[in-house]
Amino acid sequence: MKNFRRILIANRGEIAARIARTIRKMGLEPILVYSDADFETLGIREASESYRLGPGPAGESYLNSKKILDLALQVGAEAIHPGYGFLSENSEFAREVQAAGLVWIGPSPEAMDQISSKSRAKELADKSGVPTLPGFRGEQKISRFVEEAEKLGYPLLLKATAGGGGRGIRKVENRAELEAQFSQAATEAQNAFGDPELILEKYISKSRHIEIQIFGDSFGDVVHLGERDCSVQRRHQKLIEESPSPAVNSQLREEMTAAAVRLGKACGYSNAGTVEFLLTPDGKYYFLEVNARLQVEHPVTELVTGLDLVEWQIRIASGEKLPLNQSEIQFQGHSIQARLYAEDSYQGYRPQTGRIEGFHFPSTILVDHFLTDGTEITPFYDSMLAKIISVGHSREQARQALIAGLEHSLIAGLTTNQSFLLQILKSDFFKSGQAFTQTLDNQKFSQPLATERAHALKFATLAKYLKTKNPDRGWSNNLLHSSLVAWRENSQLVLMKVEENEDGIRIDGTKLSGESDLSDVEVLFRSQGVDVLLNGTVYSFVDALNSLSSAVKVQDPDAVSAPMAGTLTKVMTTVSASVKKGDVLAIVEAMKMQLELRAPRDGKIETLNAVPGTQVKNKQILMRLSPMKD
Ligand code: ADP
Ligand code: ADP
Ligand code: MG
Repeated sequence: MKNFRRILIANRGEIAARIARTIRKMGLEPILVYSDADFETLGIREASESYRLGPGPAGESYLNSKKILDLALQVGAEAIHPGYGFLSENSEFAREVQAAGLVWIGPSPEAMDQISSKSRAKELADKSGVPTLPGFRGEQKISRFVEEAEKLGYPLLLKATAGGGGRGIRKVENRAELEAQFSQAATEAQNAFGDPELILEKYISKSRHIEIQIFGDSFGDVVHLGERDCSVQRRHQKLIEESPSPAVNSQLREEMTAAAVRLGKACGYSNAGTVEFLLTPDGKYYFLEVNARLQVEHPVTELVTGLDLVEWQIRIASGEKLPLNQSEIQFQGHSIQARLYAEDSYQGYRPQTGRIEGFHFPSTILVDHFLTDGTEITPFYDSMLAKIISVGHSREQARQALIAGLEHSLIAGLTTNQSFLLQILKSDFFKSGQAFTQTLDNQKFSQPLATERAHALKFATLAKYLKTKNPDRGWSNNLLHSSLVAWRENSQLVLMKVEENEDGIRIDGTKLSGESDLSDVEVLFRSQGVDVLLNGTVYSFVDALNSLSSAVKVQDPDAVSAPMAGTLTKVMTTVSASVKKGDVLAIVEAMKMQLELRAPRDGKIETLNAVPGTQVKNKQILMRLSPMKD
């Protein structure tokens, strides 16, 4: 790169990890930053350089522009990539970055100022001949809004011009509702986005969300990278995105992409941006807003164009021309992305916090995530855990691949929207390409049946039984071996009877042949119980005995593992050394704490896999004691 090598990524989560990947690929140096809440995430663990920003709350970490800029200068960063969310659309920050002599990997602050507010962006769209929805922007007085609303006709949307991520949007059905909501909406907008300005927009009761990816360079050239359809939404927030859109034919594509490019040129747009539209069933499209940054759903565009959008961002920011001209950009195949959220989709999409006890993603599908075993999902940030992205020659192929990928993904420890995503992907409306932004609100989805859970419990019981049964005890011909496995379900004790003889195993009367039955499901042992992945749904079961006694501990008795992720600072033993229970064997340092690793029992060190000065993962096995002879 001409003018920079070291790039600070002012973000977190899956996008920080993803940006770092491209930076490394280009032979440049990524510098990661983290809050205390993000210490145990993938990006940080794999980074060659990462620095603490501050405590978990975004205001004290990822939104602390001064701290980020000071840190960037201190560690010799030459450019800043803001990712999305946080400071990415803050033109003031972009200016400060540039004033400090660093490169801002994003649009120019001047272009951002013209489009960051929804009202100014609509003004520009009007001027550029890009269709906008009937609405009102202007004097922030309730009497004026009521007057305009009467002319427009209800229902209407009251939108915060600085809003984003589906927040700051209220539907008003009549005058009384508008009057009741107006000042509240303005106060909320001021508090949430630092700007009380509101606009009115005609509500479109059946619409698709279609957006165009654009890219500009600093020589005034702007190209598009096709459209994305993001109509599967809950609470005005995208859940499933795809490219191309099943609702856009080549003529419409030509019109919409031309409109987006026109708008980009009108504000001298450089770098990556997305022009969002609503599309009605009769083929009319209306401009919504411009997102002046990389978008969460950019991977589907990458998969159908074969381009690395982050690489484009970096090259353009370094002063290069657009890497390809419009006719050189080719589209092939179909890609679909599903956003895996920590949330309870069947209980009002309530976000979930907690600890990732373990996870597994199939290697057959692209997954952007930031998880490690032990990652804590905190209340400070967005609840997105991962993006699962498929690609196929046809839409149907991509859909099938995504279903297969999701069905074989397992997140243990907290509730996710995994089964909800699968319900959508398998639904008739999605399969036929008939998703509208209102579809999820209008359709009733219910949790997979209780019978499925009962079925999963049998697998959990089988797994638990096989794992805990004493291998030496065995059973002789015709001798029935029977035992009980205890679970806690809704604070009730549930006892599952396991009978085993030479014909196989029966669980609660159902015959299961043993290990081979477990190949249809995936089972993950947690400290408190077992998670079973069955037909794409994760069922969590709580071990009843675990809470009563530790007799059924399933942990490896010989392993000595790291108490948390951190730096292994000291190792005080060697292979074949004899140790006594409680001896300090090593020291791990994390978050300014020193954690001692102690021998769990008397024994001899059989293997040692611990190098002082290296990073260790949570629960990583550092040494192993020789098995006990009884
Ligand atoms: P998109 O249209 O690409 O979904 P949104 O407008 O929904 O973009 O918001 C951008 C994304 O940035 C969010 O989906 C979220 O992942 C992330 N984001 C935004 N604000 C925050 C925040 N305060 N904390 C963490 N992540 C955020
Ligand atoms: P945000 O900044 O939160 O992304 P947008 O204006 O892009 O706000 O709208 C987000 C979503 O809200 C859209 O994708 C769409 O589902 C819904 N929406 C926005 N405006 C309208 C409208 N006028 N009529 C119907 N739905 C709308
Ligand atoms: Mg939007």
